Amino acid sequence: MLITGHGAIASYQARFFNKSPACGCGNPVEDRKHIIYECPQWDNVRRVYFPKNYLRSTLELLLHNQKSKTGLRTIMTHRLQASLQAIEESE
Ligand SMILES: [Zn+2]
Repeated sequence: MLITGHGAIASYQARFFNKSPACGCGNPVEDRKHIIYECPQWDNVRRVYFPKNYLRSTLELLLHNQKSKTGLRTIMTHRLQASLQAIEESE
């Protein structure tokens, strides 16, 4: 999902499902760059798993590092769970 920008990312869902592109943290747009590098909701995950210079790392480099890959997986697992919960609550 992070590679293609598809799936449980608000900016993608906004395009296809007419949903708000905003992130849960209040940022007007939730896109790949926001989730990986900026969103304060994932500060703790980045601190634990990402290298100190992650802001200068491309997504490709982060995915080639086992530890940061685990961090990315953690973030996307949480994002998916939040999306599924939102769907359940709208039913
Ligand atoms: Zn955010």
